[in-house]
Order: sequence, then structure tokens, then C-alpha cells
Amino acid sequence: MSISVARPEERIDWIASVFLMMTFALSLTLVPFWIWYYGVTWLDVVQFVGFFILTGMSITFGYHRLFAHRAFKAPAPVRFLTLLFGAAAFENSALDWVSDHRRHHKHTDHDDDPYNISKGFFHAHIGWILLKPKERPPYDNSKDLLKDKLVMWQHKHWHLIGISFGFILPTLIGLALAIPMEKPLWQGAMAGFLFGGVLRVTCVQHCTFFINSLCHCIGKRPYDKKSSARDSGVMALFTFGEGYHNYHHSFQHDYRNGIRAWHFDPTKWMIWTLSKLGLASDLRRVENEKIAEVEERATALAEKESQ
Ligand SMILES: [Zn+2]
Ligand SMILES: [Zn+2]
Repeated sequence: MSISVARPEERIDWIASVFLMMTFALSLTLVPFWIWYYGVTWLDVVQFVGFFILTGMSITFGYHRLFAHRAFKAPAPVRFLTLLFGAAAFENSALDWVSDHRRHHKHTDHDDDPYNISKGFFHAHIGWILLKPKERPPYDNSKDLLKDKLVMWQHKHWHLIGISFGFILPTLIGLALAIPMEKPLWQGAMAGFLFGGVLRVTCVQHCTFFINSLCHCIGKRPYDKKSSARDSGVMALFTFGEGYHNYHHSFQHDYRNGIRAWHFDPTKWMIWTLSKLGLASDLRRVENEKIAEVEERATALAEKESQ
């Protein structure tokens, strides 16, 4: 494992670094202390799981498959919701996230890949967020989003939206639920803040960071042996289905990452379900013959090279 060291063209992103370290440290100290002292109620679990799914899926469903890859279309209310709860995952605005992600696909494993795994696990997982280039690359790969009013509104206000939907909302829900639970109000509010806010944001972030780190280290490469991206059913469990990453890097516009019926891909299931309800349309998927052809070619190439 190599650890990134700031170079002259890089700077420490203090806001992101302090936020990441504080939420991580509180999750390892204050949260266990709270559980030991006050215990956990089923409402704490519901708050954690509910906000984990809402914010995590807003990244995989919204930021990733909808905005970055245009794998399907969705009406304004759906896009708006994913922008609100996507901000609450604290992984940047959709515009910045998409611009970085499109560069990741275009330059995978090379210098212009923002989370280039060949610079080491730490860099790909979190180091690239702590150390930013002094100048942000232009948004020339995201011109479609520059024209999207909702995306640009979120880009301008994403910190405020994130705090509102990622911390204040779970705190208020905890406060309101303290009344029927006959708990002191401050205790309900604090539990909402810790389980729906702090612990949840730490878990969502590291689960999605795994897509850039572990999903480029663990698993098989059925479609492209030269790319570091890998397919892993285990990683899919932690990433809302994004663990089939070799497939995704080979067919990035497919709305599915796990293409088999038994593949764990809740993001795919959500897109499909919303399409049946009229809340998603134009789902893009690669023909089975094309997928089989690419897989056969990759296997034949690997066999030839091993001889
Ligand atoms: Zn990748
Ligand atoms: Zn992608």
C-alpha cells in the first residue's frame, strides 16, 4: 500500500479532510459509547438503514447510472430527490462527481484517472479526496449537466442541502419520535443525529469508496483482462450492486451492473421497478450476444497470452 504525499501541484482539501476524519472518529468513539450507555432502539436502526439506503442509492442510482452514464431517463421529481439525498452522502455535488467519474472511465489506471488504483489502494479509496489538484479540470466532459438547471442549483448549494437532508432531517425525526417513545427530547435528537447522520454517512462513504478501491482489486475480469476493474459478488453486497465493475467498465451505459438474474444489484432493481411505475424510461442494456462476444474474445486473448 502506498500513501499519497502532497506534490507541488496538489493541495490538502481541509474541509473534506476534517469532515471525513471527524465523522469517522465519532463513529468509532461517540457512537459505541452512546450504544453502551443508552442502548439502541429499533427506531435508531430504522433511521440508520433508511438514510443509508436513501443516500447510498442516490449516489449509485442518481449520481452514477442516471447522471454520469445516462443509462436511463427519469422525470424531474426523481432527479430532484436523488440530488437532495445525493448531497447528503457528502461525496461532492453531482456535477463534480460526474466530471471526476467520466474522467475515471476515460483514463482508467492512468494519470488522468482521479482515483487511479495504480497510485495505490489508499489513494483510490480516499487519498484523492484529501489531496486535490490545485486547479480543478474544466467541465468539458459534462456539458450536458451544465445545461441542467436542477444539477446546477444543487452544485451551488450542495453543502447546505447535504447538512439539511443528511444531519438536520434525521435529528428532527429523532426529536419527533422521542415524544411517542417517552424519551427526553435531546436524547431522541442526538440518536437521530448519530445513527441517521454521523454513522450512516461514514458507512455510505466507505461503501461507495470501495467501488474505486476494492472493486479495482478483488474479483474476476471476464470482459476486459487489461483493466484493473473487477467483478465481485461480495463487493456488490456493500455497494448497492456496483461490484460487477469489470462489466461496468466494459459496458458503462448499461443500466445494469449485475446482468444475471441472481446478481445482487438493488440499483438495477430500483431502476427497473421505477420504469414499471412510469418514473424511469429509456433503460439502456447491451445485447446478450454482444456481451458473450466480448467475454469470449477476452478469454481467447488471455489463453493466447498465457501460451
Ligand atoms: Zn472504476
Ligand atoms: Zn461508472
